[in-house]
Amino acid sequence: MTCLKPEARMPAAANALAPDFNAAALMKPRAPAPTPGERKNGGAVKANGVSPQGFYMPNNNIQTPEMRSPDYVQLSTAAAITLGLMQGKMHRCGCTRCLNLLLTYPEGCRANCAYCGLARHREADRDYADRNFIRVDWPAVPMAQIIDIVAKDGAKSPFHRMCISMITHPRSDDDTFSVLKAWTDKIDPKAIPVSILSNPTTMQRADVARLKDMGADIFTVALDAATPEIFDATRGKGVNSPHSWRKYWEILEDARDIFGPQKFGAHIIVGMGETEYDSLSLIQRIVDMGGHSHMFCFFPEKGSLMDHLPATPRDQWRRVQLGRYLIDYAGGRVEQMRFDEQGRVIDFGMSQSELDPIIDKAVAFRTSGCPGKVAEDISACDRPYGDSPPSNIASFPFQPNKADVTKIRRQLAIPRTRN
Ligand code: SF4
Repeated sequence: MTCLKPEARMPAAANALAPDFNAAALMKPRAPAPTPGERKNGGAVKANGVSPQGFYMPNNNIQTPEMRSPDYVQLSTAAAITLGLMQGKMHRCGCTRCLNLLLTYPEGCRANCAYCGLARHREADRDYADRNFIRVDWPAVPMAQIIDIVAKDGAKSPFHRMCISMITHPRSDDDTFSVLKAWTDKIDPKAIPVSILSNPTTMQRADVARLKDMGADIFTVALDAATPEIFDATRGKGVNSPHSWRKYWEILEDARDIFGPQKFGAHIIVGMGETEYDSLSLIQRIVDMGGHSHMFCFFPEKGSLMDHLPATPRDQWRRVQLGRYLIDYAGGRVEQMRFDEQGRVIDFGMSQSELDPIIDKAVAFRTSGCPGKVAEDISACDRPYGDSPPSNIASFPFQPNKADVTKIRRQLAIPRTRN
């Protein structure tokens, strides 16, 4: 696990870490409440005999059986504000640069991932399009309306990227093709590139190839869990969910072959019971394949099977954020880092004079994801406050300022070297 480089150790303060991390023994999903038969599989929505009326505001309208992809998609609150479909302000952000679209069906996602607000068990008390996901509501909008607005904005569009997020549903493969085609028929994918956040469980290699042929730019796989055990416990058999680590890796390797270097990636959530060494080893594996990692800080999503658990402590999160950036963009390697017996980083394998400018640049602490139009290491996917409240930011959806960096250094226990 270690490769000693004594001259490149972190400061003494960071070597005396308090046991402040989300340990495996703690991070266990709770059992779901039983779902009444009439609410299963979108039963409550299907009983509503009304037609969709355009823009659907969660918890404010009657959800209807016909409000489904590919005609409708859901989009993040941030994207709805940026498109002018909703009023609102985002703390310290003018807009979002990524148009995240989520396929939608009355039956909802048929998987049951323990940390996710969209999981199947929630049909017990909340219709699909009313569920919170990464801390916000996702209004449903006709796809044609979204395309019209973006096409009309043309080169002035604030969006640097569009992303189709598949969910687990028998229609999601076909509807992803339809949404992508509707988009590329009106919007040049060179002007606003398209990413696919895939659902490997329903996909075959030929589906990956077809998406590439249709103009998708980047293909990502949401592994989310950093180890096969955590995957199984949070997304597989442990929560009666259909996903498997093996299938996710099969599609990730297909994406490597078909989309090529720098054009595929994996989502990883930090703080679900893995060690920092687990997360950074996985990130190294993905980089060695030619891909990138897109990282999220675990947050107890209200209504999810992990909503009783603590958010990832900021010191654990910052260490993995910095380690990930070093591996992904600064030539660092996990073998050069040192870890304590609990798998926590105690040495990033670089001298402080090498680390200082990287920490001060602070891109490492921004949201991570597919690139936008600014720089390769600056994500279009800025997801304002998707993994934390604005009062204690985990992933910065904007460039951190000097005061933010001072706080980050405190969380990392890496004070600035005096010149
Ligand atoms: S497959 Fe995706 S959307 Fe469905 S429950 Fe799992 S994480 Fe949530």
